Amino acid sequence: LESSGLRYTRQREAVFRYLQSVCTHPTAEEVYSAVRSELPNISLATVYKCLETLVECNLAAKLAFSDGPARYDRRTDPHFHLRCLRTGKVRDLEAPHHDRLLRQLDPELSERLRQQGFQVTDYRMELLGYFHEPASAPSEAPSPPAPPASS
Ligand SMILES: [Zn+2]
Repeated sequence: LESSGLRYTRQREAVFRYLQSVCTHPTAEEVYSAVRSELPNISLATVYKCLETLVECNLAAKLAFSDGPARYDRRTDPHFHLRCLRTGKVRDLEAPHHDRLLRQLDPELSERLRQQGFQVTDYRMELLGYFHEPASAPSEAPSPPAPPASS
């Protein structure tokens, strides 16, 4: 924060510490619920501002989705995600992130796009699906197809 010319505050520290402690890519509301036990007077608006400040300082990343609230990521290095279509939960995919994947997709892609006036600087990938929740949790996810009965 200081290297970005921003002041340290207890709120910013609590939000940052919580974000670093979880791998769940929480929403602002989830961060708010968690840090309120430590800072009962903190407001949701302050949590939003703290998160945006951390993103500006490259201490966190923001994941925006068209079909749900933004989530915040403790990691700012390039990596891929798994996203649950039922709950919106996001987890990191432990797989190497490198330029070769784009070239494997199409060796000419970056050059062709450059000629069309688009410079590729990065890419993102997320795998969509369903996390298996504990059996006791209510579930509205479609059940996987039953295996064929052996006769
Ligand atoms: Zn992540």
